[in-house]
Amino acid sequence: MRDYISWAGSGLRAAVIGVAALAMLAVGCAVTQNVVAAEEAAAAEESGETQMAEKQYPVQKTDEEWRALLTEEQYKVTRIGGTECAFTGQFWNDHRDGVYHCVCCGNPLFSSAAKFESGTGWPSYFQPVGPERIYEKTDRSHGMVRTEVLCNRCGAHLGHVFRDGPEPTGLRFCINSVALEWKPQLVEPTDDTAAPAAADAAQE
Ligand SMILES: [Zn+2]
Repeated sequence: MRDYISWAGSGLRAAVIGVAALAMLAVGCAVTQNVVAAEEAAAAEESGETQMAEKQYPVQKTDEEWRALLTEEQYKVTRIGGTECAFTGQFWNDHRDGVYHCVCCGNPLFSSAAKFESGTGWPSYFQPVGPERIYEKTDRSHGMVRTEVLCNRCGAHLGHVFRDGPEPTGLRFCINSVALEWKPQLVEPTDDTAAPAAADAAQE
């Protein structure tokens, strides 16, 4: 019996050594897997942000409603996150005083007072009308890590913000013209969500 245990023990040791050897061979792969696991963990954190981005925006419309409301180009950029070609939009070289509103919901986003010449071919601003006007989230598409800028009222994709802008903020909000609508002054949009309540109040 004791011999058997000894034999079994040596067999076990051999097995352990074998597994260890296999493990040594697999180290390279294991390291790779760890990196992948770390990246997946980072991605999971990112998706947490994404879920936050999918909060209940005050303005909610179905995909069909957005398609009916917007031109094809406006829809592609604001609802699918596209980018207009540089130097093709209507606002990169626009120098009028006024306020640039969200083309989807009318949210006042950027003032001409914060607009500057970036040379990029996209309208550029060093700050929004107010920090609550926009929503920012990490964008890891196209092999880059960028900060996406969205309308905080309807979730429209507007563009990206970079840290190479001028004073006083050092920020460069690089925005698609097609996501914007110029108005000579700041016009607060009527709140769609309050409309039914207002109608009720009118009836009373
Ligand atoms: Zn909007």
